[in-house]
Amino acid sequence: MESSVVSEIRRNGDITLGQLRQLLASDDEALVKNLFEQAREVADGIYGKRVFIRGLIEISSHCKNDCLYCGLRRSQKGAVRYRLTDEQILDCCEKGYRLGFRTFVMQGGEDAWFDDERMVRIVSEVRHRYPDCAITLSLGERSDESYQRLFDAGANRYLLRHETADKEHYEKLHPSDMSFDNRMHCLETLKTIGYQVGCGFMVGSPFQTVETIFKDLQFIRTFKPHMVGIGPFIPAHDTPFADQPQGSVETTLRLLSIIRLIHPHVLLPATTALGTLHPLGRERGIMAGANVVMPNLSPTEHRKDYAIYDNKICTGDEAAECRNCTEYRMRAIGYETVVDRGDYRS
Ligand code: SAH
Repeated sequence: MESSVVSEIRRNGDITLGQLRQLLASDDEALVKNLFEQAREVADGIYGKRVFIRGLIEISSHCKNDCLYCGLRRSQKGAVRYRLTDEQILDCCEKGYRLGFRTFVMQGGEDAWFDDERMVRIVSEVRHRYPDCAITLSLGERSDESYQRLFDAGANRYLLRHETADKEHYEKLHPSDMSFDNRMHCLETLKTIGYQVGCGFMVGSPFQTVETIFKDLQFIRTFKPHMVGIGPFIPAHDTPFADQPQGSVETTLRLLSIIRLIHPHVLLPATTALGTLHPLGRERGIMAGANVVMPNLSPTEHRKDYAIYDNKICTGDEAAECRNCTEYRMRAIGYETVVDRGDYRS
């Protein structure tokens, strides 16, 4: 059965606040099933029965920021801080390349150790060694000049979740020394420079409402990012939000589908956070319209210390295990992981 509301969203490439409210609150199983199916159909139509993989390298657990939700915030006294050396990062890439990754994502806290000089050196070396690979950075807010230098050194993509498109909500999730306007400025700058840009938000973050989610979706429609990362909020111990309820897997899946319907070509990961809250969370994410997974390539000895939230999965695995596990899981639902940069298709 085709649901008329889902078909309408698909046809319009847009959603109203009323439709969003209806889809998020619905307990009509046929409607929700149809939402997932239509989103999957749209993704299949553009990307086929293929899932893109990104090798995630968590380069630093140091952070100067104090985001209220994050287990790596600077006030987190119990956090174990580490930084990868240039050699360790290059080793991760080498391993990743052999395992079939053609995108490397270097992510970390906002760590002044990884200043422009160091990052340009690392990016240039990875670019030189792997001319056929995409280099994605996810290092938070930097200066316009820094983003430009890293792009010139060979970086292609940048992930910077906007976290929420509602300024008041943003200010409840972050301390006063962080600014919504600067976050948005960074996203605009990245796009202007020529990066493929990813924004995104947590589902079920404290103070989130249907109205703030609606703003997130409107932002996605107007900004037209190449990638959108969403995953459930998961409380991290000892943070101000440690006792807040976690986000819902079900709501995350519905939002993945809605994002696919309103922005069909987007690269949409089934995130580790989704896999953390449900044993088949990533598979369900793909079946709801996601088309990317990001297995971990970080050195096993540091995995558990990149603790942005509690109980993160895959912290004891080797890179090859994560690669194999991902392939196996995707095959089980009828999808192939591909040796490909996995660029945005316009
Ligand atoms: N410092 C970088 C990378 C941050 S980690 C940056 O600022 O972009 C990547 C993402 O993890 C964040 O953007 C946030 O949306 C998400 N995250 C952080 N804490 C989380 C938590 N407790 N639960 C779920 N996701 C979280």
